[in-house]
Amino acid sequence: MHGYLIDMDGVIHRGSEPIPGAAEFIGSLQDRGVPYLFLTNNSTYTPLDVVVKLQKFGIEAGAEHVYTSALATAEFVHQQRPGGTAFVIGEGGLLSALNNVNYAINRDSPDYVIVGEGRVLNYELAERAHRLIAGGAQLISTNSDTWCPTDSGPRPGCGAIVALLEAATGRTAYHVGKPNPFMMRAARKRLELRTSEVIMIGDTMNTDIRGAAELGFQSILVLTGSSTRETLDEYPFSPTRVVESIGELAAEELMTVGPR
Ligand SMILES: [Mg+2]
Repeated sequence: MHGYLIDMDGVIHRGSEPIPGAAEFIGSLQDRGVPYLFLTNNSTYTPLDVVVKLQKFGIEAGAEHVYTSALATAEFVHQQRPGGTAFVIGEGGLLSALNNVNYAINRDSPDYVIVGEGRVLNYELAERAHRLIAGGAQLISTNSDTWCPTDSGPRPGCGAIVALLEAATGRTAYHVGKPNPFMMRAARKRLELRTSEVIMIGDTMNTDIRGAAELGFQSILVLTGSSTRETLDEYPFSPTRVVESIGELAAEELMTVGPR
């Protein structure tokens, strides 16, 4: 028995371009009933948004196969402080996830200031967040990625926005997304598998591969995203395997015959 946690950007697609073999790989998992879950640190989108995005890459998967850092963050604050309030710098995926756990938006005295991925930052929001944190709100982020690749080049990520607030307030944020064990463990539970049965496929050493190493999952690094073979020695943890792309795995899964 095995199942997969599958990062998206740099694994399934690069910007708006699908990575060859990704659709075939997912199709082979579906045909054989192998458990899988898309695991993304991008908190911009709702699971339904992601489903629509996947369709453009030729992948048909239900929203139950998508777990984002926005969902993990909402679960985290719901667990820590049920029915609380938050001031949010982020987009629809995060707002919707918080709404689903009965979190209300509060601009005056929230329990949390929560920062997610997106293009909403302006000075007024940063100023308000600064004052709310100074007034006692806890600073949380959906993920610590400091930059993200786009079709037209890199852009500042959630971690960079959080760094601004950390510098201004002198406080340190709590990041819920990969590699945080909170999100990794919640993802495993959704697969309904044991630790040793989980294989994480990702392109980023500091999130995907580190998270897998800390949880005791197997991991496969693909070289279609943010990592190269040359930089692997810079990390104290290693992936279980390195492959050029998810296309290689598609060929292997398609050759697998018989019971899992
Ligand atoms: Mg990635």
